[in-house]
Amino acid sequence: MTTDVAVIGGGVSGLAVAYDLTCRGHKVTVLERQEHAGGSAFTEHLGDFLMERGPSTMNAHVPVAEQISSELGLDTERCELGDGVRRRYLVSGGNLAAIPMGPLGFLTSNYLSRLAKLRILADLFLPQRSDCKDETVMDFCSRRFGKEFGERIIDPMVAGIYGGRASEMSVLAIFPKLVALEKKYGSVVLGMMHRRREGGKMPGSRLFSWRNGIATLPRTLAQHLGNAVRTGITVRRISPCIDGFNIDLGSQGRLHAKSVVVATQAHVAAQLIAEIDPQAGAAAQRIHAPPLAVVFLGIPRRNVAHPLDGLGFLTSEAENRGILGAQFCSTMFAGRAPEGHVAVSAYIGGTRAPHLARLPASDLIDLARLEFRDLIGAAGDPTVARVHHWPVGLPQYGIGHKKITEELETTDRRVKGLFLTGNYFAGPSVATCLSVARETALAAHNHLENARGIQTRGVA
Ligand SMILES: Cc1cc2nc3c(=O)[nH]c(=O)nc-3n(C[C@H](O)[C@H](O)[C@H](O)COP(=O)(O)OP(=O)(O)OC[C@H]3O[C@@H](n4cnc5c(N)ncnc54)[C@H](O)[C@@H]3O)c2cc1C
Repeated sequence: MTTDVAVIGGGVSGLAVAYDLTCRGHKVTVLERQEHAGGSAFTEHLGDFLMERGPSTMNAHVPVAEQISSELGLDTERCELGDGVRRRYLVSGGNLAAIPMGPLGFLTSNYLSRLAKLRILADLFLPQRSDCKDETVMDFCSRRFGKEFGERIIDPMVAGIYGGRASEMSVLAIFPKLVALEKKYGSVVLGMMHRRREGGKMPGSRLFSWRNGIATLPRTLAQHLGNAVRTGITVRRISPCIDGFNIDLGSQGRLHAKSVVVATQAHVAAQLIAEIDPQAGAAAQRIHAPPLAVVFLGIPRRNVAHPLDGLGFLTSEAENRGILGAQFCSTMFAGRAPEGHVAVSAYIGGTRAPHLARLPASDLIDLARLEFRDLIGAAGDPTVARVHHWPVGLPQYGIGHKKITEELETTDRRVKGLFLTGNYFAGPSVATCLSVARETALAAHNHLENARGIQTRGVA
């Protein structure tokens, strides 16, 4: 069997690359290990409850997120954040502290001390760093805005997005725009003010989903791709040959492709390319992804004391809780819980507590129930309780991550026609994966066009 492009991995990244290349007229085959496409984007219906095992939101701030929803005809199924989402919460001294929505909400709340708020403004007067060395997100934020801001705002945020620790993540990799603002204006706050005046976008997010959950996206992409998506197939090996690649599909035979896009998790990509591009293989191997667990609870509304009037809550490491944070799923989007019930999800593990993510389901449910009892006053037995374990969770963008991605972005220079894509390049969000996928598809398209040009010239 032969194809123009073999895309290995049928998560959102792989499907988006395949969709883009198909629209450009190439013959594409997606090879997915699981029986269904979608990867981490998996929605489960539990009676009238809707659980997201992985992602639950799309960030409309990344333009491609809205574009793809329209392009695929999914706008009529879109759900915006519910009216009940009025604030976000951070855990403070064992209680939920309300933070108004909006990027600067923490300045108008009482969550930070007065001294900490003043310290943020010191960023306007502090000297900028003279070297360009990478530093941790915590070091950068503490240096510019003070330790309290770093520990009480940034650390929970990094736990919520990456399941990681601000004290281990690279600021160059996850907040490159903040580093650039410091470099250009000498102050991040000043830089943001300038950008705002110039009409630039403030960093942030505008979240949406679809009525039947996030899996609507991969399902629709897979429908558009039709027979080009082959599930239940594990790619064992990629070997370059004279006119492309031979792909070993184990008992399912072999596939020949002119180009290959590896769209798996980083550790799988590392194994698949180790022989053909040892440099990139070694780089991908360095990306660590600690386990995560998601505990979904459906609870009668009357059993929860808290108004659940927000997105959910996050915890800083200093709070020493068993969970990284939680979402108020039924407040965020309609259709997540039946009448008279609410749905909440707890996120457990990550770099802070990988051992907790490996606990058996019953222990995880007990842990989540205890946390929800303390923090939102959830009493009694849940109507529904479900756990999903992610043995390999979200990729950690540690110090030096930028260097790693530079190696991974240039596979095509060392092995013509080989490309990587996924959530370890520019951020883990589905929307960012879509953006990276578009760039990867364009690179693969250019490769195929160049190869075609060379062939045509050869014939002439
Ligand atoms: C618990 C959790 C919550 C999250 N919440 C959000 C959120 O709210 N919003 C958001 O935007 N993002 C969120 N994310 C992040 C987002 O879901 C992921 O970063 C994104 O879905 C990754 O997509 P992907 O296609 O790159 O990788 P994956 O979804 O991991 O897909 C990779 C695919 O490759 C396949 N594969 C692996 N090896 C092989 C092989 N040898 N042969 C064939 N196929 C193979 C796998 O089976 C898988 O389907 C969350 C993630 C998790 C885990």
